[in-house]
Amino acid sequence: MEGKKLFEGRVRVVEHPLAQAVLTVLRDKDTDQILFRKGLVKLGRLIGYELIKDMPTEEVLVETPLNVKAKGIRIPQMNHIVIINVLRAATALVEGLLKALPSARQGVVVAKRFEDKPGIENIWAETYYTKIPEIKPEDYVIIADPMLATGSTLLKVLDEVYKAGRPKKVIVVSVISAPYGLNRVLSAFPDVIIYTVAVDPELNEHGYIVPGLGDAGDRAFG
Ligand code: URA
Repeated sequence: MEGKKLFEGRVRVVEHPLAQAVLTVLRDKDTDQILFRKGLVKLGRLIGYELIKDMPTEEVLVETPLNVKAKGIRIPQMNHIVIINVLRAATALVEGLLKALPSARQGVVVAKRFEDKPGIENIWAETYYTKIPEIKPEDYVIIADPMLATGSTLLKVLDEVYKAGRPKKVIVVSVISAPYGLNRVLSAFPDVIIYTVAVDPELNEHGYIVPGLGDAGDRAFG
């Protein structure tokens, strides 16, 4: 099934029925920590497969054990991937992405979200620690952050990524996104592409996505 494209093609919704079924389990408040974490790993793998579909391929010939040539393809981009883990909630999602993209180099950004009073305009994020490998012009950088709500964290992480280099592509992988955060991120970073499993309509006054799935970090880490 082809994913739906929103925001002029810059937001790609992973509509695969398995991804949607796993998301349904994650949304359920009765899903325990183990199932929740496993669900995030599954979604990481499925989103990884989805973004590989958009990578360029090259035709190759191989010789089979029957001494005949067979036509096939390679995906050279798979050797030029950097995955950024936005700690802590993205950890299980990254585990899944690595199953689809095993040769990825990895970076981490530790970020924290603050709120001094209710209202999404009163939410901001700070990064505390950043360790990103050298980014080369041929790289795709994939930033994993399961909940794209206000976009405050992601905007800071994107600043850190662009400080580290100018990759060929920057891709954000999230599980649920809200239009408020999508608009902020896409306006500030016109080259970024976002893969998400759902776009939920609203944010509450604490910046949580509604209907959403609650606090992804708390639910995955217990
Ligand atoms: N972070 C979460 O974990 N959940 C939300 O709904 C928003 C941000």
